[in-house]
Amino acid sequence: SIMPATLSAISNSAKSGVLFKGGVHAENLSHIKAIAFDKTGTLTNGLPVVTDAYFHSNFNSNEILEIAGAIEKESTHPLARAITAYSESQLNNTSRINVSDMKNVSGNGVSAFVNNSKWEIGKPDFVGKEGAAEFQNGVSEQLAAKGKTVVFVKKDNQIVAVFALKDTVRKVTKKAIQLLRKQNIHTVMLTGDNEVTAKAVAEEAGIDDYIANCLPEEKVQHVKELRKTYKNVAMVGDGINDAPALASANAGIAMGEGTDVALETADIVLMKNDLSKITDAIALSGRMNKIV
Ligand code: ADP
Ligand code: MG
Repeated sequence: SIMPATLSAISNSAKSGVLFKGGVHAENLSHIKAIAFDKTGTLTNGLPVVTDAYFHSNFNSNEILEIAGAIEKESTHPLARAITAYSESQLNNTSRINVSDMKNVSGNGVSAFVNNSKWEIGKPDFVGKEGAAEFQNGVSEQLAAKGKTVVFVKKDNQIVAVFALKDTVRKVTKKAIQLLRKQNIHTVMLTGDNEVTAKAVAEEAGIDDYIANCLPEEKVQHVKELRKTYKNVAMVGDGINDAPALASANAGIAMGEGTDVALETADIVLMKNDLSKITDAIALSGRMNKIV
């Protein structure tokens, strides 16, 4: 049974924007020593936009844009939405593209067939870097150093375009991380993004540590490893991919505007996506334990 003190604390925190799904979670939160954060949609707003586009001069750039936009239209990934929106904003009239054999490769990108050609769109390690240097001349490294996510577009065996996408770090992120540091809580960002982009975002967020090139299933492994070192670990995430990692932490915290899967799996929900409320929730949990 839930103690009256716990109940009133839970209802007070709900008013301030933190929803505890049960008394146990509310009481456990005060023991947390480390927190792992997903990057996209959690530390960042999760609304990337295409800021740069390079096309191989041997190919028709409009055709590439049109096909990339049509393929990504079949994916719900934030990067996919941004690429489709960019494609539609750049082209006056789009024809109907017949996309077949569409495959979402989690944490990597997508592949599909259009007009008997195989297209792959995703991270350079997934698509392959061969032939990229010849037309984009190291520019992708410079874009990544600015915290941009670089996506390659491959047609058959040739890289035909490079897109750079920029997501913005949430306004509240830096403050939230600072508050957690004051509570002696170690913070780590887990992301599927590449090393250079991850480092730039981690620096902007002021987070203690980051792990890049992290596949969704590897996030679980990293949470488990953090638990070996810090014993009590929370995970904060927003997406479908984050559900297993949320479940493997001592406390799973979901962003209120995240996916249904994340909300269902989480123990605690930040109703207004306000990361700074984690600190309040931890403090509240500590006070509650004293009363109980
Ligand atoms: P995060 O951990 O930052 O939320 P994901 O694990 O979802 O990122 O994706 C990791 C990387 O895979 C992205 O940074 C991107 O390079 C690539 N990627 C994934 N899905 C897509 C897609 N639909 N289109 C292009 N690139 C993608
Ligand atoms: Mg995310």
